[in-house]
Amino acid sequence: MKLCVVCNEPAHLQIKDSIDYYCKKCAQDCFSSLDLLVAIESEAQRIKNILDNNISDIEYNDTIPSN
Ligand SMILES: [Zn+2]
Repeated sequence: MKLCVVCNEPAHLQIKDSIDYYCKKCAQDCFSSLDLLVAIESEAQRIKNILDNNISDIEYNDTIPSN
């Protein structure tokens, strides 16, 4: 579990391309915009979805006749 760098509570947000983690409250306090933040779980889920989609694409393409 990642911890918020401000309050040491469990963190659910990460600064893009950084190792700084924030809980939602501190992230909102520190940043006027949350655009620079990514949700840790969502990012993992997004990557998993990409992998799943790639696998699905391969399987889908394999079913299409080459001609
Ligand atoms: Zn915090």
